[in-house]
Amino acid sequence: MTSIPENITRINQRINDRATLVAVTKTRPVELLREVYDAGCRDFGENRVQEMVEKQPQLPADICWHQIGHLQTNKVKYIAPFVALIHSVDSLSLLKEINKQGAKNGRVIDCLLQIFIAKEETKFGLSPDEAHALLAGSELDSLPNIRIVGLMGMASNTDDETQVRDEFRGLKKLYDELAVMNRPNVRFSTLSMGMSGDFELAVDEGSTMVRVGSAIF
Ligand SMILES: *Cc1c(COP(=O)(O)O)cnc(C)c1O
Repeated sequence: MTSIPENITRINQRINDRATLVAVTKTRPVELLREVYDAGCRDFGENRVQEMVEKQPQLPADICWHQIGHLQTNKVKYIAPFVALIHSVDSLSLLKEINKQGAKNGRVIDCLLQIFIAKEETKFGLSPDEAHALLAGSELDSLPNIRIVGLMGMASNTDDETQVRDEFRGLKKLYDELAVMNRPNVRFSTLSMGMSGDFELAVDEGSTMVRVGSAIF
């Protein structure tokens, strides 16, 4: 077994400065998060609000916390004071609540739209058409405390590399189409795709942010 710093070094070599590594620390104890921090990582991803809120005060303040899992409207208030990026926005009503909590905290909260790209029924996310509609709608203009900075997607959990590559390629194509939309609070910079099993494929297909958990621990 290799150590956490060795794993992070190896992953960073494979990313080769093409994307930001978000260390997915869900279910891991705080002592292990400290090892990840000491190895140089400053971007941590959690998928449960309660877990993020418990860990955040126990760790250095310069960590960027990423909400990567499905987010319920009634939980936004707990992470709004500090969250760096919410990857899992899948409805206008959620965006409205993030905006409201952003305003309460005097912040603009960066968000990604989660897009459904996998050929599986269980994953959350918007269809490409729904994402188009959301970004074209006039309601965004009344949400000054959010900023949509890109898209997130999860490929199918399969060994079929061609299928995974096609799904990532489709998401990148959608990203490029939507990135030209000219709205005050839409400024695309981030395409979050790739996990432990497929991050190299994702980076090859244009990912700028990978979310890697098990390959680190
Ligand atoms: C758990 C999780 C990951 C990381 O998965 P690994 O296979 O452990 O790298 C990435 N993204 C999301 C949304 C997750 O829930």
